[in-house]
Amino acid sequence: MVRLVLVLGDQLTPNIAALRKADKAQDLIVMAEVAAEAEYVPHHPKKIALVLASMRKFAARLRADGWHVAYSALDDPENTGSIPGELLRRASETGASCVLTTRPGEWRLIEALEAVPLDLEILQDDRFLASHADFDNWAEGRKQLRMEYFYREMRRRTGLLMEDGKPAGGKWNFDHENRKPARDDLFLPQPLRFEPDATVAEVLELVETRFGQNFGQLRPFGLATDAAQAEAVLAHFIDTALPAFGDYQDAMLAGRPFLYHSLISAYLNIGLLDPLDVCRRVEAAWKAERAPLNAAEGFIRQIIGWREYVRGIYFRAGPGYLDSNALGHDRDLPALYWGAETDMACLGEAVSQTRKEAYAHHIQRLMVTGNFGLLAGIDPGQLHEWYLAVYADAFEWVEAPNTLGMSQFADGGLLASKPYISSGNYIDRMSDYCSSCRYSVKTKLGDGACPFNLLYWHFLARHRDRFSSNPRMGQMYRVWDRMDGQRQETILQEAEAFLEKMETGTQV
Ligand SMILES: Cc1cc2nc3c(=O)[nH]c(=O)nc-3n(C[C@H](O)[C@H](O)[C@H](O)COP(=O)(O)OP(=O)(O)OC[C@H]3O[C@@H](n4cnc5c(N)ncnc54)[C@H](O)[C@@H]3O)c2cc1C
Ligand code: SF4
Repeated sequence: MVRLVLVLGDQLTPNIAALRKADKAQDLIVMAEVAAEAEYVPHHPKKIALVLASMRKFAARLRADGWHVAYSALDDPENTGSIPGELLRRASETGASCVLTTRPGEWRLIEALEAVPLDLEILQDDRFLASHADFDNWAEGRKQLRMEYFYREMRRRTGLLMEDGKPAGGKWNFDHENRKPARDDLFLPQPLRFEPDATVAEVLELVETRFGQNFGQLRPFGLATDAAQAEAVLAHFIDTALPAFGDYQDAMLAGRPFLYHSLISAYLNIGLLDPLDVCRRVEAAWKAERAPLNAAEGFIRQIIGWREYVRGIYFRAGPGYLDSNALGHDRDLPALYWGAETDMACLGEAVSQTRKEAYAHHIQRLMVTGNFGLLAGIDPGQLHEWYLAVYADAFEWVEAPNTLGMSQFADGGLLASKPYISSGNYIDRMSDYCSSCRYSVKTKLGDGACPFNLLYWHFLARHRDRFSSNPRMGQMYRVWDRMDGQRQETILQEAEAFLEKMETGTQV
């Protein structure tokens, strides 16, 4: 009897566990573009186009390789609109009662699949270095989970950047060398773009019609939509940007959204690139003296360290993780996140670039949009939905722990040892945003004071009970405590006034 093999839109590799186990002669591959997945948050049109075009091209590749594929297009009149619905439809068409699939990357879909009244076999997604059991074994019994120790385990396990059992260059982490601010006269590589082929062009029209109202600019669309193109993006990164990746990893420049970043996260997350293979290529570039160690190490750490670590946290924490709100933040997400005019140049830049590219690099997400959300006490659930919607690489297993854990401290410190907060000084040091801002980063209170300066102290004051005994935050509280009482009072009042103004929808 026919068995159905479900391949999801972020499982687009022939090496996905279900395809490795499937039988080309007997099984029917089921792939489905469904409204439920396209609409559960208002995804950026570029993200929807990326996933749909990549799915269509992957289905064509499978067919060319001799697989039988039942593909449901979004505008197919028979389409039931959900993954469970499409499985049941294919089951009734073929008489199949068994389904083989690979575990989805979010609890919502895992639960939906488990409720399907068919005989379901779900395989572990082994595109990652650490299985759920590996992560649990590592985490078990530890008082605190810290990425750095997990990362060392992954280095030892993979042998990446290891020499005679020791880390290359004598240390595990070269992060302190990776904090140079960028200047706008630097030579910056241009990202590799692809002209839409016939499949992409068809998808762009569909997305324009169905999702044209969503936040985000669909065209021009130049993303990679198959493995060969994604591979070309990786090769281009290694040739042109990797050598300076480490030095300028945290830098931000107005009008230069990509700097020396790799732009491969979306391709890794949907299966067009393999993480270990990517890291081996970067290690080889270092060995061939085409990139310095601080760049190769910094890059590999993001993938075998952070990427694996956040996934471990997401699955270990369970479905309830999405409701995390340890700091009790409940302010509504202000309209400026959806592109309303703002006087804050840093936020304006991060959001307009996000609208155009469905991309912002890590420090923009963490220290601009994330930092502001945390300082302003915005509901972490609303921020989570925003990040999930607006970035092309956003899939819940990786987005939620980054947003709720790393950026908002909503998990109470499960993922990070202290909240990532800063005043305007950090943004000024790492970017050129402040020079074109209506606010003054050097002004700490009074007319024109940078809102990050006011909100920074407001955050510390309102969460004193929780954070004043954190050894990594003691210095911040000592500075606050040394301040004159009247000055403290004025800062808090001005911060309140700013938040009230923002809440009324007035431009801030
Ligand atoms: C609030 C917030 C939300 C985020 N949401 C996502 C998300 O939805 N999807 C996503 O892939 N990343 C997310 N990140 C992590 C990171 O910002 C992106 O992976 C990175 O910006 C992607 O751009 P790049 O490919 O040019 O990365 P590079 O800077 O070139 O880094 C190389 C690779 O390392 C990996 N990486 C780097 N940092 C992280 C991290 N913290 N967690 C996981 N992987 C990492 C990515 O795969 C990335 O492609 C988020 C970070 C924050 C602070
Ligand atoms: S002055 Fe403040 S608000 Fe303006 S760009 Fe700098 S950090 Fe952002």
